[in-house]
Amino acid sequence: MQELLIEKIRTDGGVQSRERISDDYVMELAELIKAGKKLPPIDVFNDGTDIWAADGFHRILAHIKADKRTVRCNVHKGTKTDAMWASCAANQEHGLRRTNADKRHSIELAYTLKAGSSDELIASHVGVSGELVRQVKNAMRQVGKLCQPDKVTGKDGKEYPARRIPPPPPPNQAVTPEPRKTLPPLALGRVPPPPPAMRPVKKDRLDEVGQVIPDHLERLFDRAGEVQALLSKISGIRGVLRTAQEEGDVLYGDVNWQSVEAALQTAYSDLKATIPHAVCPWCHGTLTDHCKGCGKRGVVGQFRWDTTVPREMKP
Ligand SMILES: [Zn+2]
Repeated sequence: MQELLIEKIRTDGGVQSRERISDDYVMELAELIKAGKKLPPIDVFNDGTDIWAADGFHRILAHIKADKRTVRCNVHKGTKTDAMWASCAANQEHGLRRTNADKRHSIELAYTLKAGSSDELIASHVGVSGELVRQVKNAMRQVGKLCQPDKVTGKDGKEYPARRIPPPPPPNQAVTPEPRKTLPPLALGRVPPPPPAMRPVKKDRLDEVGQVIPDHLERLFDRAGEVQALLSKISGIRGVLRTAQEEGDVLYGDVNWQSVEAALQTAYSDLKATIPHAVCPWCHGTLTDHCKGCGKRGVVGQFRWDTTVPREMKP
């Protein structure tokens, strides 16, 4: 065990598996520290450059509140990812009892870190029921946060071929308007592919379906992260509201949960549909004025690609 400077310990970058911090609990622990009580040491991972906290986020804040500059730590050798994985298993038996939102958050984090894990492995690592794991996994699939891996890692550490499960239908189908359908391809008039001279030759960057991305559209594909960031914010709002609903938080007593959830779901799927998935197969990204296939964007999102592009136009 080591006494480490608190400022050396990193708690940023998504290592925290708690959905949120309880100020009351931090105050309670700070009182104990001020009274001279020693709290259990915090598990941290040292990757040679940074030290990442895997648990004890409340304890760290409590030490700061109690005007301490150091905190007792169990230092493990490992990366930030190791710390995140360990944090999914934290607080099962000690510390502030995890809320359902904390557990869901841990399951999501665990799947994000080890997408190829079996439900049983995640359940035993996070310390939750297999039923909750399956619920969270389905919810992640529905919003496109989880792809189906080819192999899964079992609790025994061995790899097994994944069972092919068809993706569930999108949630809130009744209330989620689908992105506007494009006109059928015949009415659009197909533009012939640009002559080879106009095609990029330098490195042939490909879109999600294997078509070459023209230079002038690369920037649009690069900006997918901006939309992803907005999607994460919406997920964050949904998490906070889910906890508020579960805990019966009176602040939100007037909220119509169904309508708020439906609105957030709509916002989520509409924004997700804008992420560039493929170069427009009708105008080939030439941005012709009359291309209704992509609405002059030169690209189409995945939803549009899946639902409106006829099979014979797909590579
Ligand atoms: Zn187009």
